[in-house]
Amino acid sequence: MKNLITAILLIFLFSCSENEVPENMVDVNNMKRITETLSSDAFMGRQPFTEGEKLTIDFIAGELEKIGFEPPFNGSYFQNVPMYETTSTVSNPVTFNIKGKSLQLNAPDQIAISSPIPQELIELKKSKLVFAGFGIKAPDYEWDDYKGIDMEGKTVVVFVNDPGLYSEDPSFFRGREMTYYGRWTYKYDEAARQGASAILIIHDPIGAGYEFNVPRNSSISSRLFIDDEKNEPKCKVTGWLTDESARMIFGELGYNIDSLREQAVKPEFKPFEIDATFSATITNKIERNTSTNVAGILKGSVNPDEAVVITAHWDHFGIGEKQNGDSIYHGAVDNGTTMAWAFEIGRVAASLRSKPERSIILLFPTAEEQGLTGSEYYTRFPVIPMGKTIACLNNDMMVPRGKMKDVTMIGFGYSSLDSVYGVLAAKQDRYLLPDPNSHTGLFFRSDHFPFFKAGVPSIWAYGCYDSREHGKEWALETWNYFINNVYHRPADNYNPDWDWSGVEEDTKLALNITLWLTKTSNPKPYLKQMK
Ligand SMILES: [Zn+2]
Repeated sequence: MKNLITAILLIFLFSCSENEVPENMVDVNNMKRITETLSSDAFMGRQPFTEGEKLTIDFIAGELEKIGFEPPFNGSYFQNVPMYETTSTVSNPVTFNIKGKSLQLNAPDQIAISSPIPQELIELKKSKLVFAGFGIKAPDYEWDDYKGIDMEGKTVVVFVNDPGLYSEDPSFFRGREMTYYGRWTYKYDEAARQGASAILIIHDPIGAGYEFNVPRNSSISSRLFIDDEKNEPKCKVTGWLTDESARMIFGELGYNIDSLREQAVKPEFKPFEIDATFSATITNKIERNTSTNVAGILKGSVNPDEAVVITAHWDHFGIGEKQNGDSIYHGAVDNGTTMAWAFEIGRVAASLRSKPERSIILLFPTAEEQGLTGSEYYTRFPVIPMGKTIACLNNDMMVPRGKMKDVTMIGFGYSSLDSVYGVLAAKQDRYLLPDPNSHTGLFFRSDHFPFFKAGVPSIWAYGCYDSREHGKEWALETWNYFINNVYHRPADNYNPDWDWSGVEEDTKLALNITLWLTKTSNPKPYLKQMK
């Protein structure tokens, strides 16, 4: 009912609102200049903690000042983000003691573990094993895989993904679409909240969406964490078991993984302790460092204490492995074009004769590529409290390839922003396309997500899959080409021949959405569903 009333209200409001931006106000040349500059060799791939960071954040602050956005952090455009980095080395082998028998596994090939604790020596001694289904405690689905069990000091073993993957019912954990409860990040956090000392996720390629080599490789790479006392609790040891390793451990005790999974998707499932312990020793190399979020605010003319936040991460991968003679990871599409998108929204909004009524914040977070660290930090220490942040509009990887008929909505179904986009996209003769790859959990993997976790309606929306000129097949082909050959490679470089007309249209759309959201007479968007 509420949805219907909102829809009618929206249609009424749109039919009589005059606040759309004039056609010619978005300046593509300005967007080209920003993208070309930020992805040039001089910026050295914009890696946090390097000289490239200094150049990047100074450039962003300069542009914010130029378009009339004020410095929001006690007179500064910069917010320090203290972080620590851990690189874990596991002493092999790690030992499971099963019914008095020892089973030894080797990291990282049979078990991929590391420690997020900023401590040099981490020892886990004979921690009792608990099997807890999918490791989910979800009040919104009346689901609790931890019911009635004390996890203090124990090791929880769980399946990847969520029970919805095994159901045709779209209202049960969103069916085959992955919910946040299916992500390993959520499972790590929940296990720690339960007091567990360690968590091991049983890998399977369908549930995870990737092969074991992905968690294997990340367990031996460095990881970044926010360094502040209010940090959420963390397990001492986190990681993954191969399907084969899990079958060995559970098989010793007479359990079969497939029938355990069948039990775990049922609401009556209860967690249980198994007759096994887990011991591991990890040494951590720890480095502390500070990077920077950059932001500017355009104060609202009526209600400056409420804001719409536009996010575009500035960081990329710096200088790395040489490919085709280039070792600079330019990050032109990831995320130069999007920074240009954000600046253009801000520039036009600031130049309008009738000033936006609520505030607009342009936020350029750091360390997106290393786990949304900058945006997570911002949501803990925001310029305007999360409760007064009306919405977060994010973008990432905007490939300039001409006009698109679709507006792909990563985060469709989570908030009433869908209706606002629906109406304004139709004015561009475009339609909304729910993310066709939503089972991969892209919604949880860019900077709008910490805002969503904090209760703010959030979206990542752009034209992607239906080219006006060349059709759907071509759009998919060029998108896949980008993902497979350009994305996260030195080849992600500025191209003067790009057709910007689609990014231009996306910019106008986001600008109109922003102006609609900043109007105090319009209803505030609301969340439809948590996680
Ligand atoms: Zn990105």
